[in-house]
Amino acid sequence: MKILFATKNKGKYKEVKNIFSDLDIELLSLNDFDDAFDVVEDGKTFEENALKKAVETYSHFNIPVISDDSGLVVEQLNGEPGIYSARYSGVDATDKKNNLKLLEELKSFPKPHNAKFVCAAVYLDSKNNIITNGEIKGQIISEPRGNNGFGYDPLFLPDGFDKTTAELPPETKNKISHRAKAFGKLKQLLKSEGLI
Ligand code: IMP
Repeated sequence: MKILFATKNKGKYKEVKNIFSDLDIELLSLNDFDDAFDVVEDGKTFEENALKKAVETYSHFNIPVISDDSGLVVEQLNGEPGIYSARYSGVDATDKKNNLKLLEELKSFPKPHNAKFVCAAVYLDSKNNIITNGEIKGQIISEPRGNNGFGYDPLFLPDGFDKTTAELPPETKNKISHRAKAFGKLKQLLKSEGLI
């Protein structure tokens, strides 16, 4: 069975492929298609954006789809960057620029900078539509550390760990992360519904 993960983000794809590695499915991504397009993420919540990615991708490719929308929610920044995490530093955003902007925004606030990563995950086919959520709490540190992962991982110290999610081995991040929790729940639901 083929499932299309509606993402071009190689970091996310790697993590979800790993979570689904015990299943008899071929997990594709948008990087496998020449006619892949970008879905405009104009929803107001992670769930709305994840659902929009799934709906538009399914209607174009007609393959069962999984999608996610995820981001970093920082308490002292009133929940920013939130659903704007990928493009926090502007239209030409990169992970590095986003991290620099985050540090700049937090400069005037006292530590700890409490934060959480959140993820909404969706499965969609012609008959079924399932949504799950996951989150992981931690703090933003003031100097980037580590080369694993992607996005804000070098600045995110998960509660109970002394390493950032960019320093932790990928296997460990993939047991504790927001994405691991959301897709772990999705996998269980898909199994119990007999869809995979
Ligand atoms: P999305 O493609 O709209 O879901 O963008 C999610 C953005 O949130 C990414 O580009 C990262 O900036 C950030 N993000 C989401 N998940 C993670 C993670 O696991 N580690 C680090 N940053 C993340």
